[in-house]
Amino acid sequence: MTDPVQITMAADEIIASPAIKAKLRKLGLIRRDDLILHLPARYEDETVITQIAAASNGMTVQVEAIVLDVSVQFRPRRQLVARVADASGELYIRFLNFYGNQVKQLEKARDEKAPLRLFGEIRLGFFGAEMVHPRYRLASQTVLPDALTPVYPTTAGLSQAILRKQILSALKSADLSELIDPTWRDAHDFPAFDQAVHFLHQPPPETEPSALQRHTHPAWRRIKFDELLAQQISLRRAYRARRSTGAPALVSPGHLADRLLAALPFALTRAQKRVMAEISHDLAQTHPMQRLLQGDVGSGKTILAALAACQAIEAGYQAAFMAPTEILAEQHYLKLNEWLTPLGIQVVWLSGRLKKSVKQARQAQAAGASHLLVGTHALIQEGVDFARLGLAIVDEQHRFGVAQRLELRKKGANPHQLMMSATPIPRTLAMSYYADLDVSVLDEMPPGRRLVTTKLVSDARRDEVIERVRTVIDAGRQVYWVCPLIEESEKIDLQAALDTYMTLTQALPECRVGLVHGRLKGDEKAAMMAAFVARDIDILVATTVIEVGVDVPNASLMVIEHAERFGLSQLHQLRGRVGRGAHDSVCVLLYQKPLSPTARERLKVIYENNDGFEIARQDLRLRGPGEFVGSRQSGLPLLRYADLEADIDLIEMARTVAEQLLNEAPARAQRHLQRWLGGREEMLKV
Ligand code: ADP
Ligand code: MG
Repeated sequence: MTDPVQITMAADEIIASPAIKAKLRKLGLIRRDDLILHLPARYEDETVITQIAAASNGMTVQVEAIVLDVSVQFRPRRQLVARVADASGELYIRFLNFYGNQVKQLEKARDEKAPLRLFGEIRLGFFGAEMVHPRYRLASQTVLPDALTPVYPTTAGLSQAILRKQILSALKSADLSELIDPTWRDAHDFPAFDQAVHFLHQPPPETEPSALQRHTHPAWRRIKFDELLAQQISLRRAYRARRSTGAPALVSPGHLADRLLAALPFALTRAQKRVMAEISHDLAQTHPMQRLLQGDVGSGKTILAALAACQAIEAGYQAAFMAPTEILAEQHYLKLNEWLTPLGIQVVWLSGRLKKSVKQARQAQAAGASHLLVGTHALIQEGVDFARLGLAIVDEQHRFGVAQRLELRKKGANPHQLMMSATPIPRTLAMSYYADLDVSVLDEMPPGRRLVTTKLVSDARRDEVIERVRTVIDAGRQVYWVCPLIEESEKIDLQAALDTYMTLTQALPECRVGLVHGRLKGDEKAAMMAAFVARDIDILVATTVIEVGVDVPNASLMVIEHAERFGLSQLHQLRGRVGRGAHDSVCVLLYQKPLSPTARERLKVIYENNDGFEIARQDLRLRGPGEFVGSRQSGLPLLRYADLEADIDLIEMARTVAEQLLNEAPARAQRHLQRWLGGREEMLKV
């Protein structure tokens, strides 16, 4: 029997000249399915003729007029100007670029008094109302269309006319069959797929332009739903595929975890207990856990990682803990060593900067006796072979690429995975782009956290800030002073950090100032951080190397220079470095004027909000999802039509329908994916 999917693939090729095909390809239009889903960016209303007298400034209209005079003028640039009129009034039309035969055409129309149909935006120019570069044609050549004219996103050299022709032909020949259950569809007020695309490409006469532009029309909602459905099917399928593979069930009576909890100076928060139960349950399954643990900076993720490691180790397996930077890996190592060594657990630190011989010895340990291996991506480099890796923990997961996480997964017999992130993902994003993961949220801070007061201070008032630093240090506290590092001009930025270091040393001679920056070697950085932790340094001037993870409870003031250059989540993470001890803390955001509107908006958001989730939501609003998911899923196309803020109800429905299709009609799920993602789907099969 033939496979129906194969047949549609063969019939799906676009029929056009190689030159046109090449242009279409630039727009990502390779198959007829792609043309069908290349929807208008907007519509023009050529169905009505507007009286010139009724057309006001800024309106885009179609008028029908005769040409009164035509001239090529120099004012000061050479341009073609014509005066046209209908019964109600007059208008200038102006062309800055034109061909000789355009002059002839207009002169001929003038001589023959042939009415022209002109389409363009009315502007009030120096000489009165005018249209610059209107589209025009002889009124006698075409009847007035009775439907809105679609305007498609296009590329240089590909005219709207050619695109429209291609799309109309695809509408006639492509497979537009319905793939979702018609009863469900009707109950939810969605039009059928073929109706929706026909409608959007060729809105019927008398359609209100406004509903079409706003994307709230049922036809648009259907398309947005379908787009989200493709995303859900693709991610849920990847999720299921991984779930169908086997993993060691990490079952243990929990003695190690109990002993660790008993030794801690604090009790777990309710949120920590809830998330721990979720993780513990997953670990005991025979398929790999794929869990993302989200929790704001300081919400206490590390202890949960340690407890999960206890479960794996007690069950007779090894655990690996990977962090994005050496400093952070070392901090984790010290903490985990302090917690776990007393329980008889062997914790090994594997750093990229260890001597080769030491590294080899540790690698040997990894292969054999060690229980928990902590390190940077050195963990996934050649030569580290785990004997029985049961659990892979990745801290600050968004800092690793997909490829690196995959490497870690390959290190064992399909280990369970716990990914942690302090960059809160808004709910809509978690439900869409992260639909291939289970998500746990630590939505409660450990008790006794101090609120951090945020102050916005213009750079002109730097001296006052330096005085504040002095007061804080006199009170026995410590200070972070952060200078931005921009990769393209590392030298200049390093200079800025050095300047700040010099200024502070001179202004505060009684204080001990330290400097860390990206040019320092790993152990120099670590030594500087250690000195700060040990309170041998009062002020730590730093480029953003301290961005993630470090824990110095005695630091109560954070100054961020050029705060306008930082992203929202970076600012939030940095601010989270203070307010960790018993002292009220302050974060000063120094900014340089003039501020761009987006920089101003960002600073306003960070000033007004302390909640990481709200900040992430605002960040999503300001930047769109691209930046959130950029490094995560390079193969996953961004949504073209659906909007994560506005279409939350559609995301929820898409999730349900995706599950149903995958269960009950996998062939239709496949065809839906193919319609939307085409060949690109392959990239998702990681
Ligand atoms: P993050 O989630 O940012 O990784 P950490 O795990 O570094 O946060 O925790 C921040 C600090 O809070 C650490 O010093 C940790 O020991 C402490 N901590 C964690 N859980 C609790 C709790 N339930 N009560 C009090 N302190 C806690
Ligand atoms: Mg952490």
